[in-house]
Amino acid sequence: SVRPLVAGNWKMNGLAAQLAEAQAVRDAIAKAAPKADVMLCPPATLLAQMAWTVKGSNVLLGGQDCHAEAAGAFTGDISAEMLADAGARAVIVGHSERRALHGELDRQVRAKAAAAHRAGLAAIVCVGETAGERAAGLTEEVVRRQLAGSLPDAATAANTVVAYEPVWAIGTGLTPTVADVARVHAAIRAALTDRFGGEGRGMRILYGGSVKPSNAKELLAINDVNGALVGGASLKAADFLGILAFYG
Ligand code: 13P
Repeated sequence: SVRPLVAGNWKMNGLAAQLAEAQAVRDAIAKAAPKADVMLCPPATLLAQMAWTVKGSNVLLGGQDCHAEAAGAFTGDISAEMLADAGARAVIVGHSERRALHGELDRQVRAKAAAAHRAGLAAIVCVGETAGERAAGLTEEVVRRQLAGSLPDAATAANTVVAYEPVWAIGTGLTPTVADVARVHAAIRAALTDRFGGEGRGMRILYGGSVKPSNAKELLAINDVNGALVGGASLKAADFLGILAFYG
Protein backbone atom coordinates (compact mmCIF):
# COMPACT_ATOMS: atom_id res chain seq x y z
CA SER A 1 0.00 0.00 0.00
CA VAL A 2 0.93 3.63 -0.41
CA ARG A 3 3.05 5.33 2.25
CA PRO A 4 1.18 8.47 3.31
CA LEU A 5 2.63 11.97 3.18
CA VAL A 6 1.78 14.86 5.46
CA ALA A 7 3.14 18.11 4.08
CA GLY A 8 2.99 21.54 5.66
CA ASN A 9 2.66 24.51 3.34
CA TRP A 10 3.78 27.57 5.23
CA LYS A 11 2.78 29.88 2.35
CA MET A 12 4.15 33.44 2.83
CA ASN A 13 4.69 32.96 6.54
CA GLY A 14 7.83 32.55 8.57
CA LEU A 15 10.82 34.64 9.60
CA ALA A 16 13.93 33.02 11.05
CA ALA A 17 12.29 32.53 14.46
CA GLN A 18 9.78 30.19 12.83
CA LEU A 19 12.62 27.65 12.36
CA ALA A 20 11.98 26.67 15.99
CA GLU A 21 8.75 25.03 14.81
CA ALA A 22 10.68 22.94 12.28
CA GLN A 23 13.06 21.96 15.05
CA ALA A 24 10.15 20.85 17.22
CA VAL A 25 8.70 18.77 14.38
CA ARG A 26 12.11 17.22 13.76
CA ASP A 27 12.56 16.25 17.42
CA ALA A 28 9.04 14.92 17.83
CA ILE A 29 9.08 12.65 14.80
CA ALA A 30 12.50 11.31 15.75
CA LYS A 31 10.74 9.95 18.85
CA ALA A 32 7.32 9.08 17.45
CA ALA A 33 8.48 7.62 14.09
CA PRO A 34 5.11 8.12 12.35
CA LYS A 35 4.15 5.74 9.55
CA ALA A 36 4.10 8.59 7.05
CA ASP A 37 6.52 10.82 5.22
CA VAL A 38 6.70 14.27 6.78
CA MET A 39 7.46 17.38 4.76
CA LEU A 40 7.68 21.10 5.39
CA CYS A 41 7.42 23.65 2.59
CA PRO A 42 8.74 26.93 4.03
CA PRO A 43 9.11 30.16 2.10
CA ALA A 44 12.18 29.99 -0.16
CA THR A 45 14.04 32.41 2.10
CA LEU A 46 14.10 29.81 4.88
CA LEU A 47 14.77 26.72 2.80
CA ALA A 48 18.58 26.55 3.03
CA GLN A 49 18.59 27.32 6.75
CA MET A 50 15.88 24.77 7.35
CA ALA A 51 17.94 22.19 5.49
CA TRP A 52 20.53 22.56 8.26
CA THR A 53 17.82 22.36 10.90
CA VAL A 54 16.48 19.03 9.65
CA LYS A 55 19.75 17.51 8.39
CA GLY A 56 19.98 13.83 9.33
CA SER A 57 16.31 13.71 10.35
CA ASN A 58 13.26 12.32 8.57
CA VAL A 59 11.81 15.76 7.81
CA LEU A 60 11.67 16.32 4.06
CA LEU A 61 11.64 19.80 2.55
CA GLY A 62 9.70 21.21 -0.35
CA GLY A 63 9.37 24.49 -2.22
CA GLN A 64 6.04 26.21 -2.83
CA ASP A 65 6.41 27.01 -6.53
CA CYS A 66 9.09 26.98 -9.22
CA HIS A 67 9.79 28.46 -12.63
CA ALA A 68 9.71 26.09 -15.59
CA GLU A 69 13.22 27.04 -16.77
CA ALA A 70 16.40 25.92 -15.01
CA ALA A 71 18.04 29.37 -15.01
CA GLY A 72 17.96 32.67 -16.85
CA ALA A 73 16.64 36.22 -16.93
CA PHE A 74 13.53 35.70 -14.80
CA THR A 75 13.79 38.28 -12.04
CA GLY A 76 12.29 37.15 -8.78
CA ASP A 77 11.69 33.58 -9.89
CA ILE A 78 13.24 30.41 -8.48
CA SER A 79 14.00 27.27 -10.46
CA ALA A 80 13.41 23.69 -9.44
CA GLU A 81 17.17 23.16 -9.66
CA MET A 82 17.68 25.97 -7.14
CA LEU A 83 15.16 24.43 -4.76
CA ALA A 84 16.91 21.06 -5.06
CA ASP A 85 20.27 22.77 -4.49
CA ALA A 86 18.91 24.38 -1.30
CA GLY A 87 17.76 21.02 0.07
CA ALA A 88 14.24 20.49 -1.27
CA ARG A 89 13.03 17.07 -2.37
CA ALA A 90 9.72 18.29 -3.76
CA VAL A 91 7.87 21.38 -4.90
CA ILE A 92 4.20 22.33 -4.78
CA VAL A 93 2.94 23.41 -8.22
CA GLY A 94 -0.44 24.76 -9.28
CA HIS A 95 -1.60 25.73 -5.81
CA SER A 96 -4.94 27.51 -6.10
CA GLU A 97 -3.34 30.70 -4.79
CA ARG A 98 -0.89 30.59 -7.72
CA ARG A 99 -3.68 29.77 -10.15
CA ALA A 100 -5.96 32.55 -8.84
CA LEU A 101 -3.48 35.29 -7.89
CA HIS A 102 -0.81 34.70 -10.55
CA GLY A 103 -3.06 33.50 -13.35
CA GLU A 104 -1.33 30.14 -13.71
CA LEU A 105 -2.96 27.84 -16.24
CA ASP A 106 -2.85 24.05 -16.44
CA ARG A 107 -0.22 24.05 -19.19
CA GLN A 108 2.08 26.24 -17.07
CA VAL A 109 1.53 24.02 -14.06
CA ARG A 110 2.40 21.04 -16.24
CA ALA A 111 5.64 22.73 -17.35
CA LYS A 112 6.52 23.43 -13.73
CA ALA A 113 5.85 19.81 -12.77
CA ALA A 114 8.08 18.68 -15.64
CA ALA A 115 10.74 21.10 -14.39
CA ALA A 116 10.50 19.55 -10.95
CA HIS A 117 11.08 16.12 -12.46
CA ARG A 118 14.01 17.40 -14.52
CA ALA A 119 15.58 18.67 -11.28
CA GLY A 120 14.97 15.40 -9.45
CA LEU A 121 12.15 16.78 -7.32
CA ALA A 122 8.72 15.31 -6.74
CA ALA A 123 5.92 17.56 -7.96
CA ILE A 124 2.97 18.08 -5.62
CA VAL A 125 0.33 19.06 -8.14
CA CYS A 126 -2.70 20.85 -6.70
CA VAL A 127 -6.21 20.69 -8.11
CA GLY A 128 -9.60 21.70 -6.76
CA GLU A 129 -12.87 23.36 -7.58
CA THR A 130 -14.12 26.80 -6.57
CA ALA A 131 -17.33 27.30 -4.60
CA GLY A 132 -19.12 28.31 -7.79
CA GLU A 133 -17.97 25.24 -9.67
CA ARG A 134 -19.07 23.08 -6.78
CA ALA A 135 -22.49 24.70 -6.63
CA ALA A 136 -22.85 24.05 -10.37
CA GLY A 137 -22.10 20.37 -9.86
CA LEU A 138 -18.82 20.61 -11.77
CA THR A 139 -16.39 19.41 -9.11
CA GLU A 140 -15.27 16.16 -10.71
CA GLU A 141 -15.25 17.61 -14.21
CA VAL A 142 -13.00 20.49 -13.07
CA VAL A 143 -10.66 18.21 -11.17
CA ARG A 144 -10.37 15.78 -14.09
CA ARG A 145 -9.65 18.64 -16.49
CA GLN A 146 -7.00 20.11 -14.18
CA LEU A 147 -5.35 16.69 -13.79
CA ALA A 148 -5.34 16.04 -17.52
CA GLY A 149 -3.77 19.42 -18.21
CA SER A 150 -1.40 19.72 -15.26
CA LEU A 151 0.27 16.31 -15.06
CA PRO A 152 3.18 15.58 -17.42
CA ASP A 153 3.09 12.28 -19.33
CA ALA A 154 6.24 11.16 -17.50
CA ALA A 155 4.58 11.36 -14.07
CA THR A 156 5.28 8.36 -11.84
CA ALA A 157 4.28 7.25 -8.35
CA ALA A 158 7.73 8.31 -7.12
CA ASN A 159 7.86 11.76 -8.69
CA THR A 160 4.26 12.94 -8.50
CA VAL A 161 1.79 13.62 -5.71
CA VAL A 162 -1.69 15.00 -6.32
CA ALA A 163 -3.22 17.34 -3.77
CA TYR A 164 -6.99 17.79 -3.86
CA GLU A 165 -7.68 21.19 -2.35
CA PRO A 166 -11.21 22.51 -2.78
CA VAL A 167 -10.61 26.26 -3.11
CA TRP A 168 -13.56 27.09 -0.84
CA ALA A 169 -12.09 24.91 1.94
CA ILE A 170 -8.72 26.65 2.03
CA GLY A 171 -8.27 28.85 5.07
CA THR A 172 -12.01 28.95 5.75
CA GLY A 173 -12.47 26.27 8.38
CA LEU A 174 -14.92 24.59 6.00
CA THR A 175 -14.34 21.04 4.79
CA PRO A 176 -16.25 18.80 2.41
CA THR A 177 -18.16 15.88 3.89
CA VAL A 178 -16.44 12.54 4.20
CA ALA A 179 -18.63 11.28 1.35
CA ASP A 180 -17.60 14.21 -0.88
CA VAL A 181 -13.89 13.68 -0.22
CA ALA A 182 -14.27 9.94 -0.84
CA ARG A 183 -16.07 10.56 -4.13
CA VAL A 184 -13.53 13.08 -5.45
CA HIS A 185 -10.51 11.04 -4.37
CA ALA A 186 -12.00 7.98 -6.05
CA ALA A 187 -12.48 10.00 -9.24
CA ILE A 188 -8.88 11.21 -9.04
CA ARG A 189 -7.62 7.66 -8.49
CA ALA A 190 -9.62 6.44 -11.49
CA ALA A 191 -8.22 9.22 -13.69
CA LEU A 192 -4.65 8.49 -12.55
CA THR A 193 -5.01 4.75 -13.09
CA ASP A 194 -6.61 5.26 -16.52
CA ARG A 195 -3.73 7.42 -17.67
CA PHE A 196 -0.72 6.01 -15.79
CA GLY A 197 -1.68 2.43 -15.00
CA GLY A 198 0.20 0.95 -12.05
CA GLU A 199 2.08 4.21 -11.50
CA GLY A 200 -1.25 5.96 -11.11
CA ARG A 201 -2.32 3.38 -8.54
CA GLY A 202 0.78 4.23 -6.49
CA MET A 203 0.57 8.03 -6.67
CA ARG A 204 -0.32 9.68 -3.40
CA ILE A 205 -3.48 11.75 -3.32
CA LEU A 206 -3.45 14.28 -0.48
CA TYR A 207 -6.44 16.15 0.86
CA GLY A 208 -5.91 19.85 1.64
CA GLY A 209 -8.19 22.56 2.99
CA SER A 210 -8.72 23.43 6.67
CA VAL A 211 -7.11 20.23 7.97
CA LYS A 212 -6.53 20.52 11.71
CA PRO A 213 -6.01 18.10 14.61
CA SER A 214 -9.73 17.96 15.36
CA ASN A 215 -10.77 16.81 11.86
CA ALA A 216 -7.63 14.95 10.77
CA LYS A 217 -8.83 11.57 11.93
CA GLU A 218 -12.02 11.56 9.89
CA LEU A 219 -10.37 13.03 6.78
CA LEU A 220 -7.24 10.86 6.79
CA ALA A 221 -9.19 7.64 7.32
CA ILE A 222 -11.02 8.05 3.99
CA ASN A 223 -10.22 5.59 1.21
CA ASP A 224 -7.67 6.97 -1.28
CA VAL A 225 -6.70 9.82 1.05
CA ASN A 226 -2.96 9.22 1.29
CA GLY A 227 -2.13 12.13 3.56
CA ALA A 228 -2.70 15.85 3.83
CA LEU A 229 -1.43 19.18 2.57
CA VAL A 230 -1.76 21.45 5.58
CA GLY A 231 -1.67 25.24 5.52
CA GLY A 232 -2.45 27.23 8.65
CA ALA A 233 -2.18 24.29 11.03
CA SER A 234 1.37 23.56 9.83
CA LEU A 235 2.73 26.80 11.29
CA LYS A 236 2.59 25.53 14.87
CA ALA A 237 4.46 22.30 15.51
CA ALA A 238 1.86 21.21 18.06
CA ASP A 239 -0.99 21.46 15.52
CA PHE A 240 1.03 19.82 12.74
CA LEU A 241 2.05 16.99 15.05
CA GLY A 242 -1.56 16.64 16.18
CA ILE A 243 -2.51 15.92 12.57
CA LEU A 244 0.45 13.62 12.06
CA ALA A 245 -0.58 11.65 15.15
CA PHE A 246 -3.14 9.84 12.97
CA TYR A 247 -0.23 7.87 11.56
CA GLY A 248 1.08 6.89 14.99
P1 13P B 1 -5.32 25.66 5.12
O1 13P B 1 -4.91 24.37 5.77
O2 13P B 1 -4.85 26.86 5.83
O3 13P B 1 -6.79 25.67 4.81
O4 13P B 1 -4.57 25.70 3.70
C1 13P B 1 -4.61 24.60 2.87
C2 13P B 1 -3.66 24.80 1.76
O5 13P B 1 -3.86 25.63 0.89
C3 13P B 1 -2.43 23.99 1.77
O6 13P B 1 -1.74 24.10 0.57
